[in-house]
Amino acid sequence: HVRRPKEVESKRMDLPIVMMEQEIMEAISENVSVIICGETGCGKTTQVPQFLYEAGFGSKKCTTRSGMIGVTQPRRVAVLATARRVAFELGLGLGKEVGFQVRHDKRIGDNCSIKFMTDGILLRELQNDFLLKRYSTIILDEAHERSLNTDILTGMLSRIIVQRQEIHKQQKAFEVSTGKTVSPEKKMFPLRLILMSATMRVEDFVSGGKIFANPPPVIQVPTRQYPVTIHFSKRTDIVDYIGQAYKKIMSIHKRLPSGGVLVFVTGQREVEYLCRKLRKASVEMTRNSSSQVAAVVSDVGMEEIDDAFKMEEGESETEEGFTCYDEDDCDLSESDLDGDGDDVLGENGNFASLRAAFEALSGKKTSLEQSDSGSVGALSVLPLYAMLPGSAQLRVFEDIKEGERLVVVATNVAETSLTIPGIKYVVDTGREKVKKYNSSNGMETYEVQWISKASAAQRAGRAGRTGAGHCYRLYSSAVFNNIFADFSTAEILKIPVDGVVLLMKSMGIKEITKFPFPTPPEAKALVEAEVCLKSLEAVDCDGKLTPLGKAMSHYPMSPRHSRMLLTVIQILNKGRGSARRNLILGYALAAAAALSLSNPLVMQFEGDDKTEDEKRKKKKLKEAAKTARAKFFNPTSDALTVAYALQCFELSENQPQFCEEHSLHLKTMEEMSKLRKQLLHLVFNQQDLLLKMEDVQGAWMVYSNKHPLKLNEEELLGQAICAGWADRVARRVRRLSEEDRKVNAPRYEAHKVSETVFLHRWSSVSRTAPEFLVYSELVDRKRPYIHGATRVKPEWLARYSRYLCSFSAPL
Ligand code: ADP
Ligand code: MG
Repeated sequence: HVRRPKEVESKRMDLPIVMMEQEIMEAISENVSVIICGETGCGKTTQVPQFLYEAGFGSKKCTTRSGMIGVTQPRRVAVLATARRVAFELGLGLGKEVGFQVRHDKRIGDNCSIKFMTDGILLRELQNDFLLKRYSTIILDEAHERSLNTDILTGMLSRIIVQRQEIHKQQKAFEVSTGKTVSPEKKMFPLRLILMSATMRVEDFVSGGKIFANPPPVIQVPTRQYPVTIHFSKRTDIVDYIGQAYKKIMSIHKRLPSGGVLVFVTGQREVEYLCRKLRKASVEMTRNSSSQVAAVVSDVGMEEIDDAFKMEEGESETEEGFTCYDEDDCDLSESDLDGDGDDVLGENGNFASLRAAFEALSGKKTSLEQSDSGSVGALSVLPLYAMLPGSAQLRVFEDIKEGERLVVVATNVAETSLTIPGIKYVVDTGREKVKKYNSSNGMETYEVQWISKASAAQRAGRAGRTGAGHCYRLYSSAVFNNIFADFSTAEILKIPVDGVVLLMKSMGIKEITKFPFPTPPEAKALVEAEVCLKSLEAVDCDGKLTPLGKAMSHYPMSPRHSRMLLTVIQILNKGRGSARRNLILGYALAAAAALSLSNPLVMQFEGDDKTEDEKRKKKKLKEAAKTARAKFFNPTSDALTVAYALQCFELSENQPQFCEEHSLHLKTMEEMSKLRKQLLHLVFNQQDLLLKMEDVQGAWMVYSNKHPLKLNEEELLGQAICAGWADRVARRVRRLSEEDRKVNAPRYEAHKVSETVFLHRWSSVSRTAPEFLVYSELVDRKRPYIHGATRVKPEWLARYSRYLCSFSAPL
């Protein structure tokens, strides 16, 4: 009954997994859990849900296969892209039979059969329906990534499939013994669980019966169709890997046959920087190559060759040039281009290209033929990173113009979640940016580090989708062999687990240490989480969930944020009616949203500072940022400052322009605005409030030219923030001198942090530098800086925090 578009039918036939449909479906019918491994791009994500759908899973009829097919992804990017693709392949509507849900976005119809979602969404659904009654099958995709949520889901689902089997058995026994039938609404069939992984490393899921009593069968989908040649660099540039990447891309473009290039860098800034540089080079290059064509037409002598060469330096290498790039000698950029990494199109020439230019111009091979091979066409440069708006992310799937070469500059997002069509060359910097978290003092740092061997293999694999490909590793084989770890560390070992512990406690899992984690968190992290939850009064001194903790667990956010909101609500519910209460709650929601995301006022100023123009632009941006901060300024709290900025943002007519003018990060503001609205709905879903949602929203949507909060209202919100960050307390180290106020960042002593921490000049509270403050995080740049500070009073600390007494000497 499935009618796929013709183009899809033929494309599907190329996917190795399609040949294995029968084997996969047999395994799924015979086992409640199955593991499918296959290289990225083999068709797991798009095809397995379709196999299930065609086999009758996801139907509405009451059979063993009724109920939705749920597919989880660790990354939001992949949810939208694959849902759309699967709908298209099946010839069905997105938002009808095929739907998706991510944190702020949802398109699910009543007759949804296949639902794509992030792993976080499914985890939340579990809270309300532990048996996942609406589902017949759950696919946990990208299990190899070992994201926290997918790991927890694996553990939970291993128990749920047992329970669903058990209930099914009991119902059958009941029907046999009594001759009655269980009503369709109550009827329960076994749930099927499919783990999908891009690597063969699945022993954490199967080993020792720790998770699954009967280890699931592992189906291997044959690996990619085309070989990828790996080229290591001879030397490793530790510092300027972006410069190296740029050179490599340019030399690929000039020398190698058509085919897309995928470059892996570490973060948004690097992506944007490299994209700018490549686009600039592309413009200059196409301008130059049209002059080159003109040169060919005229009858040229040696002097003109020289001129022509100047214009087209390094572009006319003959095709033979690339046949020798094998594992030993692969350093395209070093042997073939001059040493000037910043500007390949500069005046400096080299001999090889001069000769090539001569050959081209003397008729051996014309420049026109060269452009046929695609090597002097323009570059179509596309960025890809998690914070990019959805529509811009999907551009990588669109066709590019004839004669252009696709260059996708991506972060880790492109490693396994998305298969970009037409990629033949991969340039791998070998780096990734990871958030490092020090559980003992709550300090977070972003570090660029080497990827694992497994990641490197994944990245290389992206080059072999459409034909034989090449992967250029910008590091030596010695670095790879000696320094790279075999696999990346599971997320659960890297981050705080307070939210996870609270969620699990609210699901009635008492002994967290006995939970079947694929990789158990460190005992120390579990202790830290307990300490945090105790300080937020979410659990009592025996570690048992309190009513407050139960209430907190319903909010899809860190326990700190939910504690803060609930504190505001408690205070508001006690007070008597006043119209201001609507505004206060509105502000509390905005502040919670603000504290969930990075500070949108702290812009990163991009640009390479090379030209006067760039410098001027940067200075202007900084000025704008300063004025903006002054406009939104609230002297008591960074969170309230950002909340006011959010209010003005939401009320502005042209939001992108507003952000531009006020030097705000647009994507963060949009995200924050969505989060605020979602929190608003959640609060009114969860709580018996004396207020009305419309009134709260109404109060929020009134523009005020000045910061609209009164002093006592700020204090109320300050108390609530104090309750949520009760263990992140800091006290100023010494009296402030005028000098401190102006120049230095004031010094603080933070609870449980041995070194001195600093309040950033950009913080709203830095002018007054209060004696006590709570903060949302410490970020280690040149020195440890307090982020998200709010001034607090000793009496608030006495009420909400047990750490007031931990500060030794009075000032
Ligand atoms: P896997 O999950 O095994 O990595 P996928 O099912 O994601 O593989 O991809 C299979 C094929 O479908 C790939 O060739 C990929 O390029 C293509 N594809 C996936 N998503 C899209 C999309 N949104 N648009 C176009 N092609 C897509
Ligand atoms: Mg996939």
